[in-house]
Amino acid sequence: MTKFSDLNLAPKVLKAVEETGYETPTPIQAGAIPPALEGRDVLGIAQTGTGKTAGFVLPMITMLARGRARARMPRSLVLCPTRELAAQVAENFDTYAKHVKLTKALLIGGVSFKEQDKLIDKGVDVLIATPGRLLDHFERGKLLLTGVQIMVVDEADRMLDMGFIPDIERIFSLTPFTRQTLFFSATMAPEIERITNTFLSNPARIEVARQATTGENIEQCVVMFKASRRDREASEKRKLLRALIDGEGDKCTNAIVFCNRKVDVDIVAKSLKKYGYDAAPIHGDLDQSQRTRTLDGFREGSLRFLIASDVAARGLDVPAVTHIFNFDVPGHAEDYVHRIGRTGRAGRDGKAMMICIPRDERNLGDIERLVEKEIPRMENPLQSGGAPETSEQVEEKPKTTSRRRSSKSTEAKPDYKPEAKQDNKPEAKPENRPEVTQDNKPEAQASTKPRNDRIRRGSDRGQDRGGKKVVGLGDHMPGFIAMSFEDRRGT
Ligand code: AMP
Repeated sequence: MTKFSDLNLAPKVLKAVEETGYETPTPIQAGAIPPALEGRDVLGIAQTGTGKTAGFVLPMITMLARGRARARMPRSLVLCPTRELAAQVAENFDTYAKHVKLTKALLIGGVSFKEQDKLIDKGVDVLIATPGRLLDHFERGKLLLTGVQIMVVDEADRMLDMGFIPDIERIFSLTPFTRQTLFFSATMAPEIERITNTFLSNPARIEVARQATTGENIEQCVVMFKASRRDREASEKRKLLRALIDGEGDKCTNAIVFCNRKVDVDIVAKSLKKYGYDAAPIHGDLDQSQRTRTLDGFREGSLRFLIASDVAARGLDVPAVTHIFNFDVPGHAEDYVHRIGRTGRAGRDGKAMMICIPRDERNLGDIERLVEKEIPRMENPLQSGGAPETSEQVEEKPKTTSRRRSSKSTEAKPDYKPEAKQDNKPEAKPENRPEVTQDNKPEAQASTKPRNDRIRRGSDRGQDRGGKKVVGLGDHMPGFIAMSFEDRRGT
């Protein structure tokens, strides 16, 4: 078996590795470190949890230990899709470079440009960044990428999902042609293949088995669930989630609950909290300090349930998660692999449970095709699809009509959840793009129609006039209110 000492790492790096207590390199480390140290490009097909971060950080530190940084010209660049992942890569540098003099800067959204500029001005060996923020700095003329000798692209498949590929291509073109590239992706979508063919030169290709297909230590199951009534689906699903958690008892010491949409992340966290579970949300609309606080609490064990969206959970390194609860079936099959890969890490046992409502069955089929096995069906612990309404459920409904109507009330939204597949669109907010509710847009748009339907049921208010939808409040209203949007725009 390969040992760290066989890998040609600098003695000071080896010392830091020893101090972490890791004894043997993981397969991605054993495969990627030697060619990286030889100066070759590396294509690592591996996901989070495989030890891939150290797979590029260790050789980088060894190589960067020689030479010095110049002002505004970083010597190496690590691109990550999310702030959390970038912060975690930075932590890895701190851990493994503690006996080496190395400067680094973290360029992520939510942190002031001024502080970041200061660091860059001094000169850094390693720049760890999200693509948007990096280009912002570049465009402000504060950064030169012509000194980059090593460039790492981490979680490229996630970059693709988040629409970062054009940014990545641009960044590649701003760095020297002679740079060394270390490129990591959990999957090789055609677009990723194209990028690697364009920007990598004869890379050493290291592929480690997917956790979902090999992770025998992760017990998986799915509950097929049909709500008793469509408008109760959201609250019944939350009740089922509580039953699943309770069913695991003490075995569930901590868990991540994944929802597809940010709005549901908030609702589920709030609801669990209300029922006495120690839960907190994490998603892209929360400010950075809150995200960091929540994550720290979860890592330290003071928070038991982390309710997360796919993007926010990216790069989360929490070694001791016992359970993953998929409140929603993810819209992209690969996300299932990523999600459940959060449990069963480093040889521990883990359990992944999922709730599947009828309209998610197609996505479930996609997942089963990807992982090449059927996910065992589990009996609904509430015993029937439509559990009788209890006082609990009544309590969960928004309490007042005004709350329902409020456009800001996220609580009310699930009631208007449309059938549309776009519901399952995962949170895919490119880092540093306006924080606006971009991701929630489909929901906001789709919610309009059922809302009108509700109004119609009660009276003929809001009915179509002249084939055009009317915006108004009643029948005895001034003519201008009864005009359609289009007409009003024309005036
Ligand atoms: P990563 O895939 O980089 O997110 O790493 C997943 C987890 O594996 C992290 O908690 C690392 O600290 C841990 N890890 C990294 N390298 C090793 C190793 N050689 N042996 C055991 N655990 C490791």
